[in-house]
Amino acid sequence: MGNLITNEKNGEYLQLSNGGTSVLISVLLLSGSDVAETEWEQNFVAWLAEHDHSLLGPGMCGFDLNDIAWNNKDFQKQKIFVLKTIHRAMKKHRWTALGYEPPYVGESLIKLRDMVDHYQQSHVGKDREWELQFKADPPRKCPKHAVFEHASGCYICLDN
Ligand SMILES: [Zn+2]
Repeated sequence: MGNLITNEKNGEYLQLSNGGTSVLISVLLLSGSDVAETEWEQNFVAWLAEHDHSLLGPGMCGFDLNDIAWNNKDFQKQKIFVLKTIHRAMKKHRWTALGYEPPYVGESLIKLRDMVDHYQQSHVGKDREWELQFKADPPRKCPKHAVFEHASGCYICLDN
């Protein structure tokens, strides 16, 4: 059992094992948590953190790019932030915090980068809202990993 990350609007998908999903989300959290400044950017990282099998169950952690709370006015800025998060992860930003060298995540990041790249404003339709079920309130970061936590704690701590 694993998870799918999809861009249904463009017929693309990324198939991941449960372990592969954990690694991908972890490196995105390490990257995005350091550069998220606006509320939208912080919510994006918090939303990523919610894709945690300890919250949702294994095999329930996929998403579609359309689940991101894009809005039309700021779409380009939002897309740039998502791509920046992926690019920094591709450069192994803070991978040492994981305590292991993830072998396959590079390919997943390339595929995800391409999918986000292909996601266009015409795909957004109506402005979207975050569906944050497990948001930490107020937002907080793990003292060990400095990534945004969800209500039950740190994605990376819970994964270990
Ligand atoms: Zn942690």
